Amino acid sequence: MEILFNERSVLKTKPHPSELGFGKEFTDYMFIMNYEEGKDWFDPRIVPYEKIQIEPSAMVFHYAQADFEGMKAYKTTSGNINLFRPEMNMERLNQSNERICIPKFDGKFVLSAIKKLIEIEKDWIPEAPDTALYIRPFIIATDPFLGVRPSLTYQLMVILSPVGAYYKEGINPVSIYVETDYVRAVRGGVGNAKVAGNYAASIKAQMEAKAKGFAQVLWLDAVERKYVEEVGTMNIFFNIDGTIITPKLSGSILPGITRNSVITFLKDKGYTVEERKITIDEVFTASHEGKLKEVFGTGTAAVISPVGKLSYYNELIEINDNKIGETCKLIYDNITGIQNGTVEDKFNWIVTI
Ligand SMILES: *Cc1c(COP(=O)(O)O)cnc(C)c1O
Repeated sequence: MEILFNERSVLKTKPHPSELGFGKEFTDYMFIMNYEEGKDWFDPRIVPYEKIQIEPSAMVFHYAQADFEGMKAYKTTSGNINLFRPEMNMERLNQSNERICIPKFDGKFVLSAIKKLIEIEKDWIPEAPDTALYIRPFIIATDPFLGVRPSLTYQLMVILSPVGAYYKEGINPVSIYVETDYVRAVRGGVGNAKVAGNYAASIKAQMEAKAKGFAQVLWLDAVERKYVEEVGTMNIFFNIDGTIITPKLSGSILPGITRNSVITFLKDKGYTVEERKITIDEVFTASHEGKLKEVFGTGTAAVISPVGKLSYYNELIEINDNKIGETCKLIYDNITGIQNGTVEDKFNWIVTI
């Protein structure tokens, strides 16, 4: 399929590098492709980023048949543009599609469209250390219809947003609230898919934790309320006496690409990494015994986010004196180094545009 390019006459003013935030500004162009039953995915095009026309009755607004991905393009010091394991994002979006009955697309084709879009928008990729161009592919159900069934029409879009360094004042550990009332996801539900509804469902817990002075919540399993699942929108890892433990993918945990990369990287460095069930009691007991060395979240936005404090019911524990730990630092330096082209890509994770 040929990708049509509809050029705009006037380009936007790019944000000043010092003013970059996260997800606030969007580039000049976007990618769009449509789906209709009987026609498959069709009409791929790169068009000016602008408002889209959609009926108020479009199914996405009523039944949340929508899913998305988050990835980044990095500019290297030698001027290359790097993507980090982008084929995994395409695969995961198709897995999300499968779960909420959205027709699958050709991952190779959409990745080629994303590359083309980024090539056109390369001047939007910020160059300062730890900045990137955030890439947001997403799909929405567009049938003008009320009633719960799969839509017969969809729109796949990719928008781009230049993002600043996640850690402007160096990596600072965050305080986390272990959530005991609300749950994020249940096995058999949609927690292992990047579907829009998951995030709407999580906001209330996040707001309540914020009001109590915490940056995010740590989610426990929805059934027994004792196994650790994720932290906010990141996967979670524990360093207990030198062993790295992360909850195993149980069906209610999002299979993070950063999670997978961190596991591979640490095993290669000689660490023992265990993917298994871990209770919040085990974490607090390890802390009491002086064995809880590090806790950190992983995800595309921050790469890694050290946890300095954990609150569970009436107890607040401090981890590593509320400072970034050794393993955290090793991971951050190496994964961002691979992304920026300053560390050898020995796992073949980089796709250069
Ligand atoms: C996106 C996401 C992650 C992290 O996935 P990455 O592929 O590493 O960015 C973890 N948990 C949730 C709930 C997410 O939505």
